[in-house]
Amino acid sequence: MVEIQLRGRGIKDERVLDAMEKVPRHLFVGKELEDRAYEDNALPVGEGQTISQPYMVALMTELLELKGGEKVLEIGTGSGYQSAVLSLLASDVYTVERIQSLGIKTGKLLADQGYGNVHTVISDGTLGLPEHAPYDGIIVTAGAPKIPIEYTDQLKINGRLVIPVGSRYSQALYLVKKTARGIEKSVSTGCVFVPLIGKAGWDETEIY
Ligand code: SAH
Repeated sequence: MVEIQLRGRGIKDERVLDAMEKVPRHLFVGKELEDRAYEDNALPVGEGQTISQPYMVALMTELLELKGGEKVLEIGTGSGYQSAVLSLLASDVYTVERIQSLGIKTGKLLADQGYGNVHTVISDGTLGLPEHAPYDGIIVTAGAPKIPIEYTDQLKINGRLVIPVGSRYSQALYLVKKTARGIEKSVSTGCVFVPLIGKAGWDETEIY
């Protein structure tokens, strides 16, 4: 997975490659899909949600440019795989999930696997997590209709936000940098994520 899907496609950050080599992805997919855990695609994790494709996890993580001492916010805990990767690359990871059953199950898995610097919170992550702000990095792993102002407000100066923005069915992956001069946005690639549902995201009743 690391050599072919990640390094082979241009992921260069050795810390990211190393973290993805260490995190056992098969523990984050259900027992029934265990033998498909290292495939080059997203997989269902229950509640209509998905674990992202390994390449997308690597790319989004690389865009954060983590050096090791950062406080990171993740929106969309899902399986916990992305949180586990982040936990090896930053000093503290706050991860927010809106589906209570998923948040509880994943929080327990992360704790049992020893990812002690990951803090799982169940709430509507479209408003960020102001109680622990500001963050060095924010990573949103669900597709948003727009960039909520709360995210850039909760970033430190020189902080980075990685977020898929677009329609419900396809998005562009944005890298947003907060500088002393203002906000700089660039698009990295096209992508497809499940919808970010909540106050500053999609309306739940409009989704299906
Ligand atoms: N990072 C995850 C990918 C999860 S898929 C992984 O590595 O497996 C996206 C997740 O975002 C889903 O679990 C979904 O329930 C969650 N989500 C959607 N809207 C949300 C919101 N407003 N706040 C928090 N989580 C949300």
